[in-house]
Amino acid sequence: MNLVLLGPPGCGKGTQATRLKERFGIVHLSTGDMLRAEVAAGTEVGRVVDGLMRAGALVPDELIIGIAASHFDDAEVRRGFLLDGFPRTVPQAEALDSILGDRGITLDHVISIDVEDEAMVERITGRFTCGKCGEGYHDTFKLPKVAGVCDVCGSTEFVRRKDDTAETVRRRLTAYRNQTQPLFDYYDAKGLLRHVDGMKDIDAVSRGMFEALATQVGA
Ligand code: AMP
Repeated sequence: MNLVLLGPPGCGKGTQATRLKERFGIVHLSTGDMLRAEVAAGTEVGRVVDGLMRAGALVPDELIIGIAASHFDDAEVRRGFLLDGFPRTVPQAEALDSILGDRGITLDHVISIDVEDEAMVERITGRFTCGKCGEGYHDTFKLPKVAGVCDVCGSTEFVRRKDDTAETVRRRLTAYRNQTQPLFDYYDAKGLLRHVDGMKDIDAVSRGMFEALATQVGA
């Protein structure tokens, strides 16, 4: 199963991606994670993209296409993948088509998690994760059971993404509406797009996604 997951920042893509990955045994490819790893490692690419990411802007197409393309020769990825955060523009979607086409790989489904923008600002600005195991928390919706201690691994170190400020979130939402939403028409024309209501609770969104996939394959 080869999937693309679309949705604005804060729609719950990361959480749902983990569930899709577990359910279908596919590799989760997040271009945001790839770029954050470059920044953390202090590479040349990392230095170029750090400012853009902090500002909530997209990084140049050719740069991200090169980074994403390098993963499709991996044997594990060829058995099934979930793309999260890529493609984000029509030129990226066209490049993905040729990357996959050259390798004889077909895209099976594109899922869009649909949400309302203002709710996303509250969701994102409150989120933080355990610095050790990556468990996700939220200032309003999900605090650790014991203040300051991770429920899962007991760590007391937590991290917030540098681009999770209200101003940056609004810019990332605008980038999504202007640059990524045109992909709806692109994938709709190919008969691949399925919409899921992302305003419901996490489990209901997962059910919506699994139903959308089952409906599409006629199960
Ligand atoms: P994400 O973790 O998917 O929200 O991505 C975080 C940031 O990384 C974005 O706001 C962009 O600055 C950058 N980024 C990730 N994927 C892409 C992409 N496909 N095209 C352009 N920029 C990207």
